[in-house]
Amino acid sequence: MRREEMMVACCGDLSGKVRGKAFPVSQFDKRLKRGVGWTPTNVQITCFDAIADSPFGSLGDLVLIPDPATRVSIESEAGAPNENFVLGNIRYLDGRPWEFCTRSILEAALARLKTVAGVTLYGAFEHEFQIKQLTGEIGKAFTLAAFQEERHFCEAVVAAMRDAGVTPDTILKEFGAGQFEVTMGPQKGVTIADHSLVTREIVGLVARELGYDPTFTPIRDPAGVGNGVHVHLSMLDDAGTPVTHDPQGKHELSDVAGMFVAGILKYLDAIIAITAPSVVSYLRLTPHRWSAAFNNLGFRDREASVRICPVSDISDIARAAQFNFEFRAADAAANPHLALAAIVHAGVQGIEERLPVPEATQEDLSLLDADALAARGFIRLPQTLEAALERFEGNPVVRDWFPAGFTEVYVKHKKGEIAYLDGKTQGEICAAYEAVY
Ligand code: GLU
Ligand code: MG
Repeated sequence: MRREEMMVACCGDLSGKVRGKAFPVSQFDKRLKRGVGWTPTNVQITCFDAIADSPFGSLGDLVLIPDPATRVSIESEAGAPNENFVLGNIRYLDGRPWEFCTRSILEAALARLKTVAGVTLYGAFEHEFQIKQLTGEIGKAFTLAAFQEERHFCEAVVAAMRDAGVTPDTILKEFGAGQFEVTMGPQKGVTIADHSLVTREIVGLVARELGYDPTFTPIRDPAGVGNGVHVHLSMLDDAGTPVTHDPQGKHELSDVAGMFVAGILKYLDAIIAITAPSVVSYLRLTPHRWSAAFNNLGFRDREASVRICPVSDISDIARAAQFNFEFRAADAAANPHLALAAIVHAGVQGIEERLPVPEATQEDLSLLDADALAARGFIRLPQTLEAALERFEGNPVVRDWFPAGFTEVYVKHKKGEIAYLDGKTQGEICAAYEAVY
């Protein structure tokens, strides 16, 4: 049977899913202007495919315009169709960005960072995931043997990343059962999130081609490990010089980076509904899992929401260029564009408010009671998605970072997701998320 090669124009949405429409590859140039039609209510399709309460109903028309810089075309293994997709922005028919286009929301956040601080974001996403077929295996954490067994998978992921224009950094057999971690090389601006999304899709593509079923769910089972998304961030000036590091600064953070980190931590409880947006995200964000349970800055501490990453004197890369901090309170139920937009807005808010650089912790904060935590300026992060949504809705500063109506629609979306899980046990809820992420 003949096949015609197709290209999918797509966009990551509020549910963290990547949705789009396919057109013949031969029309690529034409579609850069025409785009593909899109429907407003699609934004309320939850990860479980149930449509949450939508203010748009059956009304309205939009257009998804591909950005050719994001084109992914990968030659597949013998006999299989090639992979072609391109990311885009959702716009009104007159070209204005749609309020719920995640890529446009990130572009606006990055523009605010540029205006307020004169810097460009430089960063990379690190993703953990599990291959369901391998989760029964034990004794393999970080081992050479486990890597050798999955060398075909790992090398195919890396080759596909490179073909897609994503610079591979590392891939490894992580600690958890059947768990792997893949890290992309750093990029500037919106490409940071684009490449995160592309990397996730590539892992799915390669795994399926090899007969594997991967899951990026935040946690499969509270008795096991979580799958985190760690977002490494630093900043560049107009000349491309790193401006995050200051050897004299507190924790070696430059002024701008220190205020940015302070902003993230100040507003973390109100943005976590975006960076860790599933019901099971809050099973992962508990103490002693190397995730994030408090709004703390960590120095050489992997139980912190923001961790200052180590720099080495013996690397071939200069200290200032190595220096970065890592946001650890995210997972792959989050749309990477939206999560990064929330982090950037919080950081820029910290710069505008000229917040002091927080103290860094190197201790177990779960041993402190609420008063002791409060005395040191820490809070326990929301422990359910409902509580996180209340903090988001209830914070007028945070609501204002997003386009008009965004908060209401986002909260309705998440309430639709929560409603789908009504009456299910914790095990069934974990299974439901594992099936869709
Ligand atoms: N799996 C941990 C998480 O849920 C992270 C472990 C690590 O530090 O790589 O974030
Ligand atoms: Mg890891």
